[in-house]
Formats: sequence, C-alpha cells, structure tokens
Amino acid sequence: MKTRSIVWDEKYGFCKDELQEAKRIMERGGLVAFPTETVYGLGGNGLRSEAADKIYAAKGRPSDNPLILHIADKEKLPLYVSEIPEHANKLSEAFWPGPLTMIFHKNECIPYTITGGLDTVAIRMPSHPGAVTLLKFMDFPVAAPSANISGKPSPTEASHVKEDLDGMIDMIIDGGEVGIGIESTIVDLTEEIPVILRPGSVTKEMLQAVIGDIIFDNGIIRQDSGPKAPGLKYRHYAPNAKMTVIDGERKRVVAKINELASGFSALKVGILATEETKNSYPKGHVVSIGSRKEGTLTKGLYRAIREADRLGVEQIYSEGFSKEPNSEALMNRLVKAAGHSIITL
Ligand code: AMP
Ligand code: MG
Repeated sequence: MKTRSIVWDEKYGFCKDELQEAKRIMERGGLVAFPTETVYGLGGNGLRSEAADKIYAAKGRPSDNPLILHIADKEKLPLYVSEIPEHANKLSEAFWPGPLTMIFHKNECIPYTITGGLDTVAIRMPSHPGAVTLLKFMDFPVAAPSANISGKPSPTEASHVKEDLDGMIDMIIDGGEVGIGIESTIVDLTEEIPVILRPGSVTKEMLQAVIGDIIFDNGIIRQDSGPKAPGLKYRHYAPNAKMTVIDGERKRVVAKINELASGFSALKVGILATEETKNSYPKGHVVSIGSRKEGTLTKGLYRAIREADRLGVEQIYSEGFSKEPNSEALMNRLVKAAGHSIITL
C-alpha cells in the first residue's frame, strides 16, 4: 500500500480535496493518521469493525486493547453512550475540548471490536484545530489509538508515524509537532467513584477540583481481574535499547548517571537529560527532552526516546522527574518505557 502524505497548516488548514479524500478513506474502512494536541492518532471509522481490525493489524496491537473514539461535538455523545453521569457533564464542561478521555457504558452502535470486547467505551473531544476540522467533516466518531507500532513511543511528529507505519496505512496528515506530547488522561466514570486509569496533563488535582472524590488506579489494584484499562498490561513507549531511570535530587542524579555511563563505550550509551542539565555529561550521546523551567518535558519525551534509539545505543539512562510539575504523568511514561527499571536515590 502506498501511504499518501498531506499537510495541515495552522494558517491555511486543509486543502478541500484532501479532506474529502480522508473522508472517503475512512468511509471505506481505511486508516488516516492525524495530529491531535496530545500525540498523533491512527484514525478509522469508529462504527465499523473492519476499521478496528485494520487498526489492530497496522499497529500490531492486541485486539483486547480498546480504542478511544474521537468526536468534535458534545451533542454527539448521547449517540454513542447509554448513560451520561453528572460527573461527565461537569468534566466535559471543564476540560473538553482537550486532553481528557472519559469512559462510559456503550451504546449498541459501537462494535465490540472497537472496545476490545468491553461494554464500556472511551471517548475524547480533542482541541487541536486540524483534528477538530477533520472530525467535524466526518459523519461518524473516529477511533484513534496513538499512531505508532504497538509498544513503541507514541508519535509526536508526522515523521514518527512514517517511521512506524509507512506502507501500512492510507494517509498521514502532517500537522507538525504536537503541543502536549503525551497521551490523554483517562477517567472511568462507570464506577461509583471515578477512577483515573491513565495520568495525563489533566491532573488528579484538576479533576478533583471539579468533581471531588477520585481514585488513581495505577494498574495494581485489580491484580486478580487484570488492570481496568486493558492497555496497561502491555509494554509501552519502549525503545530498542535497555533503559533505566535515575530519580532523585538533581545533582546526585547527574553524578550517578555519569558513574553508570563510564561503564560503556561513549558511542553505546544514551543519556536523556534536560536543557538545564545537558552540559553536565562528558560521556555518551546526550539528548535533551526539554526544559524543566519552561515545562516542555512532556512535549519532548517521546521524541527524545526515539532519537536516542536512532543513535543505536545499547543502554539509555534517563533523568527522573518526580519533583517536576505533572510528575505523575511524566514518570508513568518514563518508568514504562524503562520496563520499570528505576534507581531512586
Ligand atoms: P491509546 O489509544 O494507545 O492511547 O490507548 C488507549 C487506552 O485507553 C488503552 O490503555 C486502553 O486500555 C484504554 N481504554 C480504551 N477504552 C477503554 C475502556 N472501555 N475501558 C478501559 N480502558 C479503556
Ligand atoms: Mg498508545
């Protein structure tokens, strides 16, 4: 299959013919990767089973790992869910459009292939203007997991999508680098007390301020039945190289990473650092994730992991960020990328 690339531009938007083409592709059950404010999504018609099958096949994603449906219009929500709890109204008022996904009981029109066999469905209304235009143009919700090969870091630029899925999907919409860089916060509203299934840039504190009581499920509390978000049981965001996170007071972290890196030949070790610390490492390939001061760490995280991997290193050491704002979401992704290899100083 030849993957067609088109451009969405902040100033000029879409070319009309190309938007029509994206619609035709998805109507037929084909796949279009598109930018959102979190990461690039791999979109297909959320009412068609074949689209879900193709998404799972292209990503190599296990088919019990459900997909998030994307909509551009709150009024469409009742078409896809059987019940809208009061919390959902408050949360959508506060955070939609934006990086928050909510889980509802599903309506019959949503195929089980989309929900990984569950009776619940995940729904999000993104704010990225290109995604909004695309979604408004469709007569169906768009099922879209992150547009990467399953297990790899999520794509934050169109080139990452190409790297993973070129030749396997119909179209890539290039909208440049995304703004947030990590996936949406997921909140399950089908439980009596809402549960955060995945942390993101809408934090627990922000959610609490709107709806009060909320639980954070780190995937551990349901060991007998498996994690509530089925995706949590699979390896995620992982580079090809081995990766270890070193977390703690900044000076000690730098010293420890230098000590560990000295055991490798300089070409074989990658170091994920920040703008503030990148000059503190004399040995190894140093890749800056972003700036602690400017709060650009989530935005650059996946790009940095991909970059370090591309250098062909054997081992990646990353600074930890448990003291930074939004540390919950950042550390969640980092620790998973490292397969839970973490040294806390
Ligand atoms: P991704 O699309 O790659 O960002 O992953 C979507 C995440 O949402 C996965 O971890 C899924 O397990 C989770 N998810 C989607 N639908 C549901 C659902 N109905 N119940 C629980 N988790 C869900
Ligand atoms: Mg994903």
